[in-house]
Amino acid sequence: MECSHKNILLKKVRKEIFDMSFEAKTSVCSDCGAYLRDNKYEQKYMHWLKGIYQERRDKFQTQCYFSKNLIKCALTYLEGYPGISPTVFMRALVTIYFSVVDSDKKKSALLESLLDSEIYDSFSNDKNRKKVNIQFKPKMMIELIAVSEFLELSPSAIVEEVVIKLMTVITSQDKRLREFWENEIRGYLDMFLKTA
Ligand SMILES: [Zn+2]
Repeated sequence: MECSHKNILLKKVRKEIFDMSFEAKTSVCSDCGAYLRDNKYEQKYMHWLKGIYQERRDKFQTQCYFSKNLIKCALTYLEGYPGISPTVFMRALVTIYFSVVDSDKKKSALLESLLDSEIYDSFSNDKNRKKVNIQFKPKMMIELIAVSEFLELSPSAIVEEVVIKLMTVITSQDKRLREFWENEIRGYLDMFLKTA
């Protein structure tokens, strides 16, 4: 039976993130032990994270490896966006993917059904790779960590997968993938890159 969290106590709880620990008081159910993080707790957590973001920028980076061919395709695409580096572009792709595609079941199912596995595999199986560090803002990093804990993958592995997916969309000639790109991604990307 589901607990209705009737017996609440204010307790200090600890959260491990980036090999550091964050401690703050929040409501904890004494029956089932659930942490009912309230706004005050979330605010403290964001404040703490922003402090870490200022001091330890490296903690908000994912170290990815991409096929040189994929990077070449990204550079070709970026010819239309002077001054934008591949890492800024990749950060934009990941952020847009999570806010537009992944949060919408219909869109993510559509994308999965359309993906060109030949292109996808050629990017992901290529052993000729280059290291790319991608920097994220605190909010996006929290989301990445949450997804990575859920899927039991590293944040870097998730970023690699998302970038490969969207680069497959960009480089495909398939009409429906092109439409997906134009209708679902392109506008957000242009907006994101304009403010980058
Ligand atoms: Zn409970």
